[in-house]
Amino acid sequence: MTSRKPKVVTLDDFETDCIPSPLIEIHRRLRRGGHDALLVGGCIRDFLLGLSPKDFDTATDARPEKVRKLLPKAFIIGRRFRLVHARRGDTTYEIATYRKEPPSIKSPRGGRGVSPENTYGNQREDAFRRDFTINALYLDLRRKAVIDYVGGIRDLNDRMIRSIGPPDERFQEDPVRMLRAARFAAKLKFTIDAEVTSAIHANKYLLAHVSRSRMRDELMKLFLTGHGVASYQSMMDLNLLASVFPQHKAAGPMIEQAMLESDERHASGHKLSPAYLFGAMLWHFYSDRLKALESERGENMKAGELRQHACYDVLRMTRRYVTLNREAQQFILSIYTLQNRLERKLNIRRTLDHPRIRAAIHLLALRAKVGEVDPTLVAWWEKRQPPQVADRPRKKRSSRHDRRSRYGKRQLKTARS
Ligand code: ATP
Ligand code: MG
Repeated sequence: MTSRKPKVVTLDDFETDCIPSPLIEIHRRLRRGGHDALLVGGCIRDFLLGLSPKDFDTATDARPEKVRKLLPKAFIIGRRFRLVHARRGDTTYEIATYRKEPPSIKSPRGGRGVSPENTYGNQREDAFRRDFTINALYLDLRRKAVIDYVGGIRDLNDRMIRSIGPPDERFQEDPVRMLRAARFAAKLKFTIDAEVTSAIHANKYLLAHVSRSRMRDELMKLFLTGHGVASYQSMMDLNLLASVFPQHKAAGPMIEQAMLESDERHASGHKLSPAYLFGAMLWHFYSDRLKALESERGENMKAGELRQHACYDVLRMTRRYVTLNREAQQFILSIYTLQNRLERKLNIRRTLDHPRIRAAIHLLALRAKVGEVDPTLVAWWEKRQPPQVADRPRKKRSSRHDRRSRYGKRQLKTARS
């Protein structure tokens, strides 16, 4: 796994027409400037598995300033790690200079790049700073060759998630990698290597140090990108969910239903709202909290106030782990407090005029699916709810931009060039 010379596999039948043409031009310009230009990371992994890459990342030995000079419409972004973004039409391509894992990153704080500087490296070091072997492959578009320093091709063929370097150390450097392992296992239906699994068990407490915004981003990727059910299962198998939502077990059936819906909506191209998903995931905590408050303070507080209180308590608990902006919090408060009116068919006209009524009825339907409310009540409200306005299917990408590999899954025979 640590050999100095990489394995190089030539893809004889590789057609560059499955790569966006602006990206080919970006690589051409970098090479003309005397630099490396390689695709790297998830796009190679997905491409080799016959999946559509979500995005295309480029790695180069050119420093950001040089990249910017070589490419029109390119901007340097980021303070800790400077990257270049090149805008082409409505797509932004990311070009990153080879880096190495800075030795100063030791503290388990969940922030990648604790070191203030960019720590540039060579191609090999860039491969070794990545998280899992399947994410560290490079593709040279001109030579149609995959470059592998870490055994990523073998692990793709074995459908294995293996850490680059000792997983304990790698998770201590950046605990988010544990969530990434769960995500890739779910998305790709891969097995997590036993060493990685036991390192996750030993280090999962470090997730408490992950910044709330990174946690939110990762949770969105886990649950809103079409494999929510599998991600939830994978998080449960690894016992990771408790680090994000303590006492989540009782909420299991509702969360599973929410994931199922999220995957269906993703498959049919419908809009997915993170606030709704959090609302559904947290519902159980809210209803438990409400019950507790009712028995503690039911005599001194109005029912509406109790509901608000319960909701604020749950949001406060959640904000400790995940960023939730004001709008998302307001959204959750609305769909929770509307449940009472829906259950009792109160203020029908006013309730139907509420801007969040569709989402609230949706939550009611979810609750019906887990046996909390009568399904006929849901049907009653659904018949009366206003038609949907903005929730149209997402625009499908044109076939020209559909980057699903036309070759299906590739069988990779390793050969040394
Ligand atoms: P996807 O785009 O499907 O979510 P990805 O593997 O492309 O998966 P990105 O977040 O786009 O994930 O990251 C691009 C690449 O950067 C990864 O493939 C990996 O090589 C590297 N990378 C990302 N996050 C980390 C991390 N926390 N630690 C080490 N390397 C990382
Ligand atoms: Mg990616």
